[in-house]
Amino acid sequence: MTSTAGSSSTPAHNAPLPPSTTSTARSSRIAPHSHIKGLGLDPEGFALLDTAGFVGQNQAREACGVIVDLIKSRKFAGRALLLVGGPGTGKTALALAVSHELGAKVPFCPMVGSEVYSTEVKKTEVLAEAFRRAIGLRIKETKEVYEGEVTELTPSESENPLSGYGKTVSHVVVGLKTVKGTKQLRLDPTIYEAILKEKIVVGDVIYVEANTGAVKRVGRSDAYASSYDLESETYVPLPKGDVHKKKELVQDVTLGDLDAANARPQGGQDIMSVMGSLVKSGRTEVTEKLRKEVNKVVQNYVDQGVAEVVPGVVFIDEVHMLDIECFTYLNALLEDRMAPTVIFATNRGNSVVRGTTDIVSAHGIPVDLLDRCMIVKTESYTTEQIAKVLQLRANVEGLKLGAGVLEKLAVEGDKSSLRYALQLLTPASILASLAGRSQIEIEDVGEMNELFLDAKTSAANIAAAGYEL
Ligand code: ATP
Repeated sequence: MTSTAGSSSTPAHNAPLPPSTTSTARSSRIAPHSHIKGLGLDPEGFALLDTAGFVGQNQAREACGVIVDLIKSRKFAGRALLLVGGPGTGKTALALAVSHELGAKVPFCPMVGSEVYSTEVKKTEVLAEAFRRAIGLRIKETKEVYEGEVTELTPSESENPLSGYGKTVSHVVVGLKTVKGTKQLRLDPTIYEAILKEKIVVGDVIYVEANTGAVKRVGRSDAYASSYDLESETYVPLPKGDVHKKKELVQDVTLGDLDAANARPQGGQDIMSVMGSLVKSGRTEVTEKLRKEVNKVVQNYVDQGVAEVVPGVVFIDEVHMLDIECFTYLNALLEDRMAPTVIFATNRGNSVVRGTTDIVSAHGIPVDLLDRCMIVKTESYTTEQIAKVLQLRANVEGLKLGAGVLEKLAVEGDKSSLRYALQLLTPASILASLAGRSQIEIEDVGEMNELFLDAKTSAANIAAAGYEL
C-alpha cells in the first residue's frame, strides 16, 4: 500500500492488496452489451433518440434515469429495481447502462436466478458472493514507475541451455519516450511475457512498476492515430514529465476478490497475516466471519483515505427462478449498510413462488420483496429497431454486411427474437470467411437458417412430430 498505509501501526495496513480477479465468465456475459455506454438521457432526464448505444426503450430508459438519481441521492437504500419484459428486450442492457450512469468502473455483477442451485455451494452463499462482487474498492497507491510511449521493443534471445536447442528470451529492451525525455530499460523475461500478454506494441503508452515489474497498458499515443481503431482504444497524450517518476496508481478490486484472496481451505487463519495472499490452489471457503474481517480492514483503508468504496450493481436475471429461502435472504441483504444497487429481471407474470406449494404472486416474487421493488417494463422491438441494434453490433464486432443482409436479419429477429438475430451474426461471418469473402451476404444468412433453428420453430417442430409430453 502507500506510504500513508505503511505508516499505520496495525500490521494489516502494510499488507498489499491482491490484484483484481475479474472472472472471465462474467466479462463474457457483459461482452454482448459492449455497445451500451449509458442510458442516453438529456440533462432533464428525457431519452435522446438512439444514443449511448441504446435503441428505443425510451420510457424504460427514462424510468431507469429516475432510479439513478434516487441512488445518487441515497434514497434507494433497501429497495430494488425490477425490470419486466420479454426475452431479449434489453433488460440486461438497461441494468448495465444503470451501472455506467453510476460512474466509470462501477462493478456490474450479473447472474441468473438458477445459478443458486448447486450441489456444492449453499444458495444463500451464491447470493452473498454476488453481492460482494458488486461492491468495488478503489485503492490509490503512489508507486515508482517508468512511464512513456513505447518506441522500441527488442527481445534478446539466447540458446536454451536446458533443452540444448531452441531459444529463450533472456531480457527485453524497452524504449520509452515522454514529452520531456527518453529512456531504454532492460527488463527481465517475465516482463516480456507480460508485454506479450497485454499485446503491447510500439506506439502504446505503458508504465512499468519499478519494484514489481508489473506492466500496464494505458492506451495509445495519438501519434499513431491514423492507423488505429478508434472504436476499441483510448488515445492518451504523450505523458508529460520524466520517464521515471512517482505516480498515483488506482487499483480496482471488489470485496468478493478480497474475500477469495483471503480464504483458506482450512479456515481459521488470521486475516491480518493473510491479507493479500491470493490462494492459487485448493478449495477456498469464504465464511461470514472472514467477510467481517475483510470489512474491518477495508474500513481501515477507507478511514485513512487510501481507498474508496464504490457500490456497484448486482443484476439477477430470471429472478422467478429463486426460491422462498433465497427471497428471504435477499430481504436481509438489501438491508445491509454496504448493499449494492439491486436489479432484478423477469419475463413471468403471476407464478407460484418456488419452494412453496401454493403461494402465487406477481412475477413469482413474494409480496414482501415485491413491496421493495420499483417496476419498469420493457417493450418489444419494431423491425427497424432490431435492424439498428444489429447494425450497432456489426460495427462493434467489425463485421461488414452486404446488400439486404441487415433487412433479412431484422425480419428473422422480428419472427423469433432480437437475441436470435444477433446470434446469427458471428456464425454468418464465419461462413462468409470460409467462402473467401470479407462481408456477410444474404446467402450466408440463408444457410444459417437452414443449419440452425430459432426457439419457436424448434418447439413447433417437436409439437408437430407428436413428441410433446
Ligand atoms: P433475457 O430476458 O433473455 O435475459 P434481456 O431482456 O436481458 O433478455 P438483453 O440481453 O439485454 O435482453 O438483450 C439482448 C441483446 O440485444 C444484447 O446484446 C443487448 O445489448 C442488445 N439490446 C437489447 N436491447 C437493446 C437496445 N434497446 N439497444 C441496443 N441494444 C440492445
